[in-house]
Amino acid sequence: MAVVIKSEACKGCKLCISACPFDAIEMQGKVAVITEKCTACNQCIDACPFHAISREAANLKEVDLDAYKDIWVFAEQRDGRLMNVSKELLGEGRRLAEAMGGDTKVYAVLMGDAVENLVQTCAAYGADGVYLAEETHLSHYTTDGYAKVFTEMIEGYKPEIVLYGATHIGRDLAPRVAARLNTGLTADCTRLDVSVAAYKAYAEKYTTLDTSTLDATSQDRTLLQTRPAFGGNLMATIVCPKTRPQMATVRPGVMQQCEKDMTRKASVIRIEPALCETDIRTEVIEVVKQAKAMVSLSDAEIIVSGGRGLGTEEGFKLMETFAAKVGGTVGASRAAVDAGWIDHVHQVGQTGTTVKPKVYFACGISGAIQHLAGMQDSDLVIAINRDPEAPIFEVADFSIVGDLYKIIPQLIESWDDIMY
Ligand code: FAD
Repeated sequence: MAVVIKSEACKGCKLCISACPFDAIEMQGKVAVITEKCTACNQCIDACPFHAISREAANLKEVDLDAYKDIWVFAEQRDGRLMNVSKELLGEGRRLAEAMGGDTKVYAVLMGDAVENLVQTCAAYGADGVYLAEETHLSHYTTDGYAKVFTEMIEGYKPEIVLYGATHIGRDLAPRVAARLNTGLTADCTRLDVSVAAYKAYAEKYTTLDTSTLDATSQDRTLLQTRPAFGGNLMATIVCPKTRPQMATVRPGVMQQCEKDMTRKASVIRIEPALCETDIRTEVIEVVKQAKAMVSLSDAEIIVSGGRGLGTEEGFKLMETFAAKVGGTVGASRAAVDAGWIDHVHQVGQTGTTVKPKVYFACGISGAIQHLAGMQDSDLVIAINRDPEAPIFEVADFSIVGDLYKIIPQLIESWDDIMY
């Protein structure tokens, strides 16, 4: 959908210009015109007293799908360090490139100021080539600067698939680029595949869907983008059949990195970004890093994890007291992290850290499959839950049924007696 101005109805009152938060409307003579900065937020439509602005279905031009080739990975770096999710996506890109066959190549897109030293890291983790865009205005991430440069690169080189980490930056950048290119984007994918044949194999293995009508011999290059839907109750596989590139953000910690090989070489394609100060509406004055407690869940011998059953952020104070008593580290379920009660670095499970401590306390955690995936190899699991049917008890060595707010204070009080 695009926002359009009917020039014959426009009276040149400029109310839309003051209403637009994106500076995306300008006057051409006596008529207002939408520029490429438009994000289709609709503010101008409400502001126009003459009903001269409306939202219209974009007239999608037929895209020549064959003009697009190769897989790009947005190589996200912070302070000159390549993010782990980018390494994972390079590994996934390699896997997809093999499935796509032909001479499909994997490229990392490295943007920043003086980041050339990361080219070798990208190669080591699977990139055949690196698009290197270095510019002082790219030294800090800005939505405007990165979206402009990345969009222009995609328009110029036409990649078939573009992958981003579902990080704060990836989640900000990818939708802007998708909107400017008028292509699709699937957010937060946990699985990627190509071709109908791959989908058929997947559906037969994991679902009861009738796949007999699918063309198993098709060698099409459709990216099958799978992500949880309806609160994680089902997995949806999404395709982008008519436009290119096919774009996805992928959660950190889900895909596999390739084995690091520092002898691998990558070609370098230098990009000269056409960027000036007026292209970027924000100015980074200072970067303030939030000091995060050092959490090393993977090395911890004792973990005290809290879940939604804590009921409130305050519940983690009890977890900390308990952890301090038993000499453990605080972990959490994703529900507690998503509620904003504790930082993601504490999350245990499929999209958090996989742990194998000597003792794992699961407090107010139901035992969803994604949580079990990250802790079920612990030597000893002690679960506290008021629901005797909670699935966590199936993997627990000791099951304590009851209110954690009654049980944990008792455990803290009598811990020394229990131990000695
Ligand atoms: P709930 O399922 O709501 O369970 C709360 C439990 O607390 C209940 O069993 C209840 O009986 C108990 N309880 C309530 N009050 C008390 C009390 N006072 N005393 C004692 N017990 C009480 N989850 C993860 O944990 N890690 C992951 O990495 C992860 N990755 C995911 C990836 C994907 C793709 C998807 C779709 C989901 C993922 N999840 C993950 C989410 C997972 O499916 C569950 O939603 C989540 O683990 C539930 O967290 P919980 O057990 O804390 O909450």
